[in-house]
Amino acid sequence: MSVRVRFAPSPTGYLHVGGLRTALYNYLFAKHHGGKCVLRIEDTDRTRFVENAQENLISSLRWAGIEFDESPEVGGDYGPYIQSERFDLYKKYGKELVENGSAYYAFDTSEELDAMRERQQKAGIPPKYDRTVMRNEFTLGKEETERLIAEGVDYVVRLKVPTTEDIRFSDLIRGEVVVNGKDVDDQILLKSDGFPTYHLANVVDDHLMAISHVIRGEEWLPSTPKHVLLYKAFGWECPTFAHLPLLLNKDKTKLSKRQGSVAVEDFREQGYFKEAFVNFVALLGWNPTADREIFDMQELIDNFNLEKVNKSGAVFDVQKLEWMNAQYVKTLPLDYMTDMLMPEMAKYDFNNVSKEYLAKVIDLFKERITFLKQIPVFANYMFEKPTEYEEEYLQKHWKENTKEIMLPLVEKFKAIDDWTHDATYGATKEYVEANNMKLKDVIHPIRLMVTGKSVGAGMFETMEILGKKESIERLEFFLNSQK
Ligand code: GLU
Repeated sequence: MSVRVRFAPSPTGYLHVGGLRTALYNYLFAKHHGGKCVLRIEDTDRTRFVENAQENLISSLRWAGIEFDESPEVGGDYGPYIQSERFDLYKKYGKELVENGSAYYAFDTSEELDAMRERQQKAGIPPKYDRTVMRNEFTLGKEETERLIAEGVDYVVRLKVPTTEDIRFSDLIRGEVVVNGKDVDDQILLKSDGFPTYHLANVVDDHLMAISHVIRGEEWLPSTPKHVLLYKAFGWECPTFAHLPLLLNKDKTKLSKRQGSVAVEDFREQGYFKEAFVNFVALLGWNPTADREIFDMQELIDNFNLEKVNKSGAVFDVQKLEWMNAQYVKTLPLDYMTDMLMPEMAKYDFNNVSKEYLAKVIDLFKERITFLKQIPVFANYMFEKPTEYEEEYLQKHWKENTKEIMLPLVEKFKAIDDWTHDATYGATKEYVEANNMKLKDVIHPIRLMVTGKSVGAGMFETMEILGKKESIERLEFFLNSQK
């Protein structure tokens, strides 16, 4: 059987990291098996409509490197891929279920349903549609039902859940799942406005789109028995299910906005590399090996195995994400990072930075940063003369005789023709040795004069990149400002 999977988001405005994980696992699974990955937009709930939500979703998915074989944008043989463009289909299938006795008409008003729930609550029984007492086909009879419909009274179509039967399905991650019909509600399939609910539309589409595996978040596990009944009622074969573990905050509560970002676009804005973010998200609930954490997309595809996904919730650890990003800063191609950072430079008014120069600066600082965009802030002095000098550093390293010590060294620097790290280092070493000093006696003052800051990259490498003219100017400017 060929593998066909789908990512079926409801366009609620942004892509949640949990959604990205679901999309990614579908994508990895499809690619691993040489199958197809479909994007279907589930917008049956028109009350939750959000402008541009679909565009945002697609742009976040594309940023992450997830491309679909079939989607509203690229089309495909099983379209349309937006549920609101398929409404007539659902109506037809909903009616089919009524005709074959698997679903029924019900006429209850929302007040009547509220009263039912209240009664059940008082009696201490879980809320569930009671088809033996409410107003529906069974209690009203066929004739009355037909009369009401002909009169135009509002109705819904509900799934007739067998009252005592066990509903079984096997899940690739959770194993065998058995639920008794008495614990499953008579789900509304078609609403009074004729729109389908998620459950009906989802099953109809998964079938019509020939989906082989349904891979989705664990929050949908309780809905699956209803779906299994629907497949049975239509006489269709069930897809294979795989429900992915919940994402948790560090305190093991369900991942929520209240404890930090959950929207993929936020992480993107915060400056995470897509490579690092995708790597991190892929390991939320799965890891191909115990001794390795860094995988690129192709390696993820090669290793992906749904059966190895954990059952227990996966902790979303932002510190680990940062660590992951730092690993990528160290190893991503310099050219790629330079192109990425280049447009950011103007935001700091660093307008005349060449690509070549920026690449050298990134290379110098990549071991010391977590985010690329820290460079214009942390290493601002690589693009402008120091605007201030850290007071504490100055107090500590600029002594009464420091100027006196530094003047001859700067003269030695001025005599260097080939301005390299080795040359300035050699000159400095020679100078301190000849004067019975230690390297650190001069390194700190040099760092202070050239950068204004107490921390940075190797001082001689820094000066090499700044160049002779710029380095000497900074040294002399500072020396001249001191008595
Ligand atoms: N539209 C559902 C969601 O927003 C899809 C669930 C499923 O994959 O069946 O998550």
